[in-house]
Amino acid sequence: MNERIYLSLCQESGFEKEYIAKALTTQWITTGGSNVDEFENVLENYLGEKSFVSALNSGTSAIHLALILLGVDKDDEVICQSMTFSASANPILYQKATPVFVDSESDTWNICPQQLELAIKDRIRKGKKPKAIIAVHLYGNPYKVDEIHAIADKYSIPVIEDSAEALGSSYKGRKCGTFGDLSIFSFNGNKIITTSSGGALVTRNLSQKKKAIFYSTQAKDPAAHYQHSEIGYNYRMSNICAGVGLGQIKVLNENILRRKENHKFYNEIFDQIEDVELLQVFNEDYQSIYWLNAILILPQSRKRTEDLRIELDKENIESRPLWKPMHLQPIFEKYPYYGGEVAENLFKMGLCLPSGSNLTREEKKRIKKVIFNFFKK
Ligand SMILES: *Cc1c(COP(=O)(O)O)cnc(C)c1O
Repeated sequence: MNERIYLSLCQESGFEKEYIAKALTTQWITTGGSNVDEFENVLENYLGEKSFVSALNSGTSAIHLALILLGVDKDDEVICQSMTFSASANPILYQKATPVFVDSESDTWNICPQQLELAIKDRIRKGKKPKAIIAVHLYGNPYKVDEIHAIADKYSIPVIEDSAEALGSSYKGRKCGTFGDLSIFSFNGNKIITTSSGGALVTRNLSQKKKAIFYSTQAKDPAAHYQHSEIGYNYRMSNICAGVGLGQIKVLNENILRRKENHKFYNEIFDQIEDVELLQVFNEDYQSIYWLNAILILPQSRKRTEDLRIELDKENIESRPLWKPMHLQPIFEKYPYYGGEVAENLFKMGLCLPSGSNLTREEKKRIKKVIFNFFKK
């Protein structure tokens, strides 16, 4: 059997060991520490533009702390893009707040500006202005930044920008992760770079960053003894994980180039196949790292998405349906939803294809063969 080809897995850059060794030899094998400080500095320089980074133990923790910093509490409502990974929405429930889901538009597959405004107006009419909006750059593809933020500004609602899949993507020359009132990244093992497990919260000023670190380290009040007047969390990144991140970030640009090459590879394949669309950037304002490449097999095709997934799997190649929209998930289906069937149809037609930075020429050959055979039959 051929070796399994995964959707997206990080691999060692070779630079990690030196930083991990530093954590070990300096006997700082806990959370925080010099690697963590350095990792935050590197990210702040990379993002530029008023970005203050707190390194955390996951992207999910970063979203949770973003909600806490915005004061989201049990009687609040938070708007969230429906088409996303559940980690975007779960922290709303951690706060016992109510998620309000919004459909996608078909240009970027991200939160739809029209439906967003309808949702805001309707929630206000029903008596409550949403406390925050969570917008996601799905698969590295930026959402409609100008439109979404114009609406958020019009109603004075802060935006949490979920950039978990979009480190290195940009819109009109500005990096993803710089648009939100608060933004987050994930360094899980399947993202463009990893800390093995980790994430970051990006705030717009130093006092917010200090507050985020305070909450992530058990909310210890200044005192010699352990004194607490607020709920704390154990969300800080470890010095070992930050060492992995420092080694990884050295190859971020290389990884982005590789992912763009993967996109070119799939473009060449699907240019030759009818009734299949590959996810593209909407126009030249949008730059994507193509974290994952995803296709839609259109209804007029004789072929079904699930059959392609099975064919690929037979050859030990992983592919997966798109994120199943949150408003269709058992845990979330009872909450309000605004929109039609855009996200639902994307989910029905869509498939994510192997897109790792380490995809070899041989592996691409195997993938190409299965795809061509499948559509030829
Ligand atoms: C990966 C991911 C997250 C969560 O990040 P973790 O580090 O795994 O907690 C959140 N949102 C999106 C869109 C993601 O893809």
